[in-house]
Amino acid sequence: MAERTFSIIKPDATERNLTGKVNAVIEESGLRIVGQKRIRMSRAQAEKFYEVHKERPFYGELVDFMTSGPVVVQVLEGENAVARYREVMGATNPAQAADGTIRKLYAKSVGENSVHGSGSQDNAKIEIAQFFTDSEIVG
Ligand code: ADP
Ligand code: MG
Repeated sequence: MAERTFSIIKPDATERNLTGKVNAVIEESGLRIVGQKRIRMSRAQAEKFYEVHKERPFYGELVDFMTSGPVVVQVLEGENAVARYREVMGATNPAQAADGTIRKLYAKSVGENSVHGSGSQDNAKIEIAQFFTDSEIVG
């Protein structure tokens, strides 16, 4: 099976009607969107999702932001999907993101940076399982 990664189109992007534009960059990169739904993240879901950042100064702000509006959670599939999507997203801080990346094109700031992508294959599995059942993923 091709590798999978987990993606979130964050509230700053859904608020500006950028879901389609972000998806166009994803699909043009060769990654396939094999699962997708628009949800409102609960506080408990966001706190759990970003638990690794619990001790960071921006954790509270991050949880507030991720619950501030709708998000689109996605499963992306393709060769080296985890690393590939990190490239397609660009650096966390849009000021440092390469031309053509989602964050360079659309992110507002280091916090409101339009997209999430898993950092490793192990994390991708955990993150996908937090938001998707097997039958919601159609490869
Ligand atoms: P990435 O999303 O690129 O994997 P991190 O895992 O380091 O980045 O951080 C998770 C998220 O936390 C970022 O995408 C961003 O929304 C937020 N974040 C990271 N660093 C900062 C910061 N210095 N100030 C505010 N928010 C931040
Ligand atoms: Mg990360």
